[in-house]
Amino acid sequence: MNTVELIRKKRDGDKLSKEEIKFLISAFTRNKIPQYQFSAFLMAVYFKGMSVEETSYLTEAMLNSGKIADLSSIKESKIDKHSTGGVGDKTSLIIAPVAAAAGIKVPMISGRGLGHTGGTLDKLESIPGFKTSLTLGKYKTNIKKCGAVLIGQTKDIAPADKLIYSLRDVTATVESIPLITASIMSKKLAEGIDGLVLDIKTGNGAFMKDQKDSETLALSLIKTANDFDKKVIAFITDMNQPLGNYIGNWLEVFESIKALQGDYPKDLMELSITLSGAMIFLGGKAESLEEGKEISFKLIKNGKALEKFLEIVKLQGGDLKFVKHPEKYPKPKETEKIIAEESGYLNEINTFELGVAAAELGAGRKTLNDKIDPKAGIIFKFKLGEKVKKGTVIAELYSESQSKIKNAKKRFQNILKYSGEQVNAPQLIKKVIQ
Ligand code: URA
Repeated sequence: MNTVELIRKKRDGDKLSKEEIKFLISAFTRNKIPQYQFSAFLMAVYFKGMSVEETSYLTEAMLNSGKIADLSSIKESKIDKHSTGGVGDKTSLIIAPVAAAAGIKVPMISGRGLGHTGGTLDKLESIPGFKTSLTLGKYKTNIKKCGAVLIGQTKDIAPADKLIYSLRDVTATVESIPLITASIMSKKLAEGIDGLVLDIKTGNGAFMKDQKDSETLALSLIKTANDFDKKVIAFITDMNQPLGNYIGNWLEVFESIKALQGDYPKDLMELSITLSGAMIFLGGKAESLEEGKEISFKLIKNGKALEKFLEIVKLQGGDLKFVKHPEKYPKPKETEKIIAEESGYLNEINTFELGVAAAELGAGRKTLNDKIDPKAGIIFKFKLGEKVKKGTVIAELYSESQSKIKNAKKRFQNILKYSGEQVNAPQLIKKVIQ
């Protein structure tokens, strides 16, 4: 097959066949198509989209680029959660130990930061020694031993997604329903799961800004999950402001540890127990979503979820010193405060820009080879609808370099909008689709 012809076909809006999609994915994964050509293909998909059939072929081709974990020897329900990505979204770090403490097996394959959003792998790797790249054998052993494992795409599991995901990150081709669907589902189907909870973000900090698009993405994901016989529940949730108050890799681990210790911002806890509650329900350990939520909250309150988190970190090689004593973590070289220049109600946050500012401070990547700075990020102290007084510290910026702080600070001129009248804060959980 001729790669240029296939790119041209997609560029002109024609449908690709199963064989053509299989060829593109298999050749790219084996390094037979250069990144510049595959980038052009991704951009063509971004602009012209894909049909339901093409999306399913793409998912299958990406799934078959590696092995599918065989977890049939584990008799308990294997349930995972996946989020389409947002700013400050650290729920995976909280819900994996909660669901595992409830007796669910959680085989979780996650991604790195993508565009303006953070990624679970980068967050976990901010814990010194934590390994996110495990063999399939170790992956299974850990699930059996402690109930949860959090790893990345490997050369064995979903290798096509590993390559395509990082290329999309630096070619502005993230916000595409078929590409997101195939990326998420190829990873999730390779995990060997029985069921999946989906957190589809909507709002100015999500890849899908508009709720209708988020619902279309939800349906695309649900359809693909059903095609492969998996149980699924999807939530459409708000991303018009960061989740919790901490943005950045170690900062988010820190906030998750605090949450597991019982010190949490309301929105982070509400979403976390909703998602873990749904996992517990899907896995048959609760009669309803509501009961799943109650079990989740109890496991946080009685410390069992925190114990499980420590167990996961230890099994994956992480240094427990920083998890037990987060205050001992090395401090960033440079810090800066953002001060409110006027008084008023915080009525709009440009969450996308806030995510870009965090990435600019060192929490994300601009090119494939960029190194993440685990200490970089933002503590954002207010929520939509809250009153801010002139002179108050709204945010703190952390970085290794003054020039990065300067650039991120500049972005703050376009991030916040105040008004004299209070607008209601957006509803966090907007819809449940079962
Ligand atoms: N999460 C993924 O795993 N892939 C995407 O493309 C977007 C969010």
